[in-house]
Amino acid sequence: MAGIWIFAEEKELVLELLTPGGELAARQGGKLTIVVPEAEGDPADYFAAGADEVVLLSPLAEDVTLGAWLPVLAGEIRAADPEAVLLAATSRGKEIAARLAARLETGLASNCLSLAADADGTLVMERLAYGGAALQRVAVMGRPVMATIPPRTFPPAAAAAIPGREGSVRTLPPPPADTVRVVARKEKERSAQDITAAKTVVCVGRGLEKREDLELARQLAAALGGEIGCTRPISEELHWLPDNLCIGLSGVQVKPELYLGLGVSGQIQHLTGLRGARLICAVNRDPNAPIFLAADLGIIGDLYEVTPKLIEEVKKIRG
Ligand SMILES: Cc1cc2nc3c(=O)[nH]c(=O)nc-3n(C[C@H](O)[C@H](O)[C@H](O)COP(=O)(O)OP(=O)(O)OC[C@H]3O[C@@H](n4cnc5c(N)ncnc54)[C@H](O)[C@@H]3O)c2cc1C
Repeated sequence: MAGIWIFAEEKELVLELLTPGGELAARQGGKLTIVVPEAEGDPADYFAAGADEVVLLSPLAEDVTLGAWLPVLAGEIRAADPEAVLLAATSRGKEIAARLAARLETGLASNCLSLAADADGTLVMERLAYGGAALQRVAVMGRPVMATIPPRTFPPAAAAAIPGREGSVRTLPPPPADTVRVVARKEKERSAQDITAAKTVVCVGRGLEKREDLELARQLAAALGGEIGCTRPISEELHWLPDNLCIGLSGVQVKPELYLGLGVSGQIQHLTGLRGARLICAVNRDPNAPIFLAADLGIIGDLYEVTPKLIEEVKKIRG
């Protein structure tokens, strides 16, 4: 039992997983194998970033889901017998991980924020528990150890770290017909913005009285050269913004230089999503709002009075 396997649907996510995967493989001296759809880039980039073997998944027909690969992947992993399998914790990745762990009759640690071998070589993962109020350290007793890792938890391994490095490439033929077929696809409303990569995030919460007032936050975000994000009530209950702009436990994790919350109370499930923020600022009219305990800078005031002044000041400074 040796080696580390990585599975992700996108090149960028594979490169991120190669960071912890590479460290683990180097420590135990095993092979580093990645599994990725054929369309996701040149294998040479993965070799240069540390992979030893690239397993390409050939394209699937329109009505076939990624889940069709499960029996094939389970067979491949059983045959290779790796120490650990790391997957990106995207919606699809999480589904594949759970179903794969069940097939392989092993354990799965989800949404891991770190992985490290302890003194006796046991792989220990850290993940948030109780809505982000506690950090849990877990070890998987079955083999392989399976773990999902949220996007942007690790920096991507440099795609040209070791230029000219070579490895083996295999392409898996299309899998046999799946028990699930896609009968229709309907595009979910999504924002084209990627707030997980934004340097500045202006986040709106329930302090906003009506949908049209989003414009105020948009103006501030534009003045700061940033993006707009929101709390869960804004996306999930009011549907004022798409789900992929919701920050927190059930949304995305952001790591901006500046997070600015407007009318956000700062519940733990939201704060979990901004642990990586460098500077946290908040505008809230309630001096006891929990956001002020997490904030580096706070303004106690009405966002409808404060925001226009902020826009004016930022424009003066940034020109
Ligand atoms: C399992 C689970 C997962 C969850 N996941 C998430 C998640 O991923 N992301 C998330 O955000 N939430 C999540 N939640 C919900 C979370 O617990 C909170 O309910 C939510 O974050 C509160 O959103 P809010 O701050 O916008 O609203 P509220 O808590 O209602 O706060 C509104 C704030 O605005 C202030 N305010 C009102 N008017 C003004 C004004 N004019 N000027 C200035 N301030 C004003 C108020 O003082 C108040 O503090 C989750 C909950 C559960 C149970």
